Amino acid sequence: MTYEELMDYEQVFHDYEPVIGLEVHVELNTKSKMFCGCSTQFGAEPQTQTCPVCLGLPGSLPVVNAQAVESAIRMGLALNCSIASSSRFARKNYFYPDMTKNFQTSQYDEPICFDGYVDVDVDGLSFRIPIERAHMEEDAGKSVHRGTTGRIHGADYSLMDYNRAGVPLIEIVTKPIMGTSDRAPQVARAYVGYLRDLLRDLGVSDVRMEQGSLRCDANVSLMPSGSEELGIRTETKNLNSLRSIEKALRYEICRQGAILASGGKVKQETRHFHEESQSTSPGRSKEMAEDYRYFPEPDLVPLCPDRQWVEQLRATIPDPPAVRLGQAKTTWGFSDEQFRDVVAADALAVIAATVNAGTSPQAARKWWMGELLRRANLDSVSLDELPITAGEVAELQQLIDSGEINDKVARQVIDEVLGSDQSPAEIVESQGLCVITDTEALLSVVDQVIEKNSDVAEKIRQGKVQAVGALIGQVMAQMSGQADAAKVRELIMSRLS
Ligand code: ADP
Ligand code: MG
Ligand code: ZN
Repeated sequence: MTYEELMDYEQVFHDYEPVIGLEVHVELNTKSKMFCGCSTQFGAEPQTQTCPVCLGLPGSLPVVNAQAVESAIRMGLALNCSIASSSRFARKNYFYPDMTKNFQTSQYDEPICFDGYVDVDVDGLSFRIPIERAHMEEDAGKSVHRGTTGRIHGADYSLMDYNRAGVPLIEIVTKPIMGTSDRAPQVARAYVGYLRDLLRDLGVSDVRMEQGSLRCDANVSLMPSGSEELGIRTETKNLNSLRSIEKALRYEICRQGAILASGGKVKQETRHFHEESQSTSPGRSKEMAEDYRYFPEPDLVPLCPDRQWVEQLRATIPDPPAVRLGQAKTTWGFSDEQFRDVVAADALAVIAATVNAGTSPQAARKWWMGELLRRANLDSVSLDELPITAGEVAELQQLIDSGEINDKVARQVIDEVLGSDQSPAEIVESQGLCVITDTEALLSVVDQVIEKNSDVAEKIRQGKVQAVGALIGQVMAQMSGQADAAKVRELIMSRLS
């Protein structure tokens, strides 16, 4: 039986308040590793991007990557953190095959960024997420477990790739987040989505959750409503999609609710989320900070970023995603409802790119929220996964604006763009889809149509001008939609006057 069946989600909140804490690991996109010159390029042959420093061989000495420090500070500033005037690296000691140094170089009591916050919106409500710290550390190597399961349990043997060992990471840790009530899972999701957008805007990470460059550990506990004392938490590790963060928290809230409601005690442990069953299962029981025997890294001097440099970096921080959204709304002149729909369809980025390529905001919205959204839904893909670029949509609209094609032909061109690697202009050119404006060509069809519909023509002669639409429609149909409609109307009226 699932916990959602044991304990109704809404019912938990009659007696308990959830407290969540999120630890997000971000892989930076620096060219070289955190403490050595090895490349961070993804996908190379195993062990081709290693050296004595990242393998921790005796006598090797680390050197801090300045670009990583700059990225960490910019990220901290964007999270409204204070930047430490002096911060230190620390050794986090543990033995595991993915870490040949037998310790991870991290930061402990003196992180580079601390005490920040961000505001996120859920259901039109704003929630402030207090940030405890953002610190620098290095990634571990990658274990590959061979066998039918692909996991360590049931593997025949395991292989190690140390290319990833030493890649710069930043870990962003929130303070306990309270007051979210039954929206806790959505708030967590919104926060990580906010970080993803922010980091992308800052240009410090590729933030591909599915490739693991942004991973989240989600802590949650329940405390009796009105209590001051935090409950016992569990930590669900390595969530790598926004959906799984929300699902895992929902599940844990029900599971803990059921345990507490029956008088039991939650066990402090790490857990794993399973996509297939949408549930979590226990991992190891949680080690405590003292298990890691943290101590200051003796091979690195304290990091004391120059204040002037920090202020220069502050000037490079883009506005928060929400502010930029608001600006986009004002400058684009969308109605509230149009804007809500655009946000809901995740169409902001593609519309912005199309506007940047020279299209009017309303025209960009019309294509992305109309025909293209319809195609995306048919194929169950997101807008940015459709095989058409913002540049191509801009080119399409330009062909319309210059009168070379009309809306009807444009839809046909979209079909072709989605199914080939030709651009709209190439398609119009190679398939002769241009609108026909040539008077001779149009007149020959106009005359035919008037002859065939003499009754309609007679009505128009007598002053029933509305009837002209029927004739225009027939001309268009005969010319596969490629006739210049305004010109056709003009010609019909002049023939019948
Ligand atoms: P650890 O190293 O054990 O993962 P951290 O202090 O790095 O611990 O992070 C723990 C995270 O869990 C932080 O985001 C913190 O705010 C949060 N947290 C701490 N106590 C609780 C609690 N009782 N319930 C929910 N979250 C908590
Ligand atoms: Mg942790
Ligand atoms: Zn190296």
